[in-house]
Amino acid sequence: MAAAVDGGAPDLAGLLERIAADVAPLIGSGTPAEYIPALAEVDPRHFGMAVADLDGNVHGVGDWRVPFSAQSITKVFALALALAEGGDSLWRRVGREPSGNPFNSLVQLEHENGIPRNPFINAGALVVTDRLQTLTGDASSELLEFLRAESGNPDVSFDAEVAASEHEHGDRNAALAHFMASYGNIDNPVPALLDHYFWQCSIAMSCADLARAGLFLARHGLRADGSRLLTRSEAKQVNAVMLTCGTYDAAGEFAYRVGLPGKSGVGGGIVAVVPGRCALAVWSPGLDSRGNSVAGVAALDRFTTLTGLSVF
Ligand code: GLU
Repeated sequence: MAAAVDGGAPDLAGLLERIAADVAPLIGSGTPAEYIPALAEVDPRHFGMAVADLDGNVHGVGDWRVPFSAQSITKVFALALALAEGGDSLWRRVGREPSGNPFNSLVQLEHENGIPRNPFINAGALVVTDRLQTLTGDASSELLEFLRAESGNPDVSFDAEVAASEHEHGDRNAALAHFMASYGNIDNPVPALLDHYFWQCSIAMSCADLARAGLFLARHGLRADGSRLLTRSEAKQVNAVMLTCGTYDAAGEFAYRVGLPGKSGVGGGIVAVVPGRCALAVWSPGLDSRGNSVAGVAALDRFTTLTGLSVF
């Protein structure tokens, strides 16, 4: 089975069908995110999975072409762009350790003087978006253009309804941003920063789009057009932070079960990377108590178990 991703399309199609059958009993279990009303309305019975090889060929199963709310998965791409545009001085403003606290927690920030633990909790992502805003003048549009280019899909778009829903229920993110601003760790006006952050989170993409867009991390920093976004070392660093911090307060369990760098979002999506081989994306809206897709984690677990592909 390990050859499946090296060009054996029939193998890969069969593998994905098998995984979909294996996880079918889990589809619909868990709960879609409720704190963003626009996400709570999504049918929990969706399931899709896609695998993109290094040349950008994609195979999928189920709802792999249906766009969904990428949410926190966008944090990986924003981090990569901020590092590419501004270098590693970013790490003076955000750490690289798992937080051990919920993704939207305020508690740790006070103890740590407004420096978030990592770029994938909300506080850290706000710092990254703030940096990208300073560097580019239009963080969310920059990110959208990048995702369109890497996915090869010019229709990748913001979802205005989701962005508005987040705005309306965004008190906690506003609190995080203002709190960090009080420590001098936010450069832009907080309302503008929140706008960019909510637009960023609202971006809708399919598993096919996300698997393709994640390939630069499998290609050790090379973009779809062959140009270099990140150095090999930076790509390794982003993958490492995904592995240790990418799946909320369950990164240890995810590493144990899946053994790949991965980033989840409360829309029920997860992107995972097999460096040097492929990128994967999976989507099913039912979340476990930590905020990760129940069927999505199980599908990635089956993928690495059946193929033997993992970083370990
Ligand atoms: N937009 C969501 C928030 O900021 C993202 C959360 C997530 O996917 O983890 O609350």
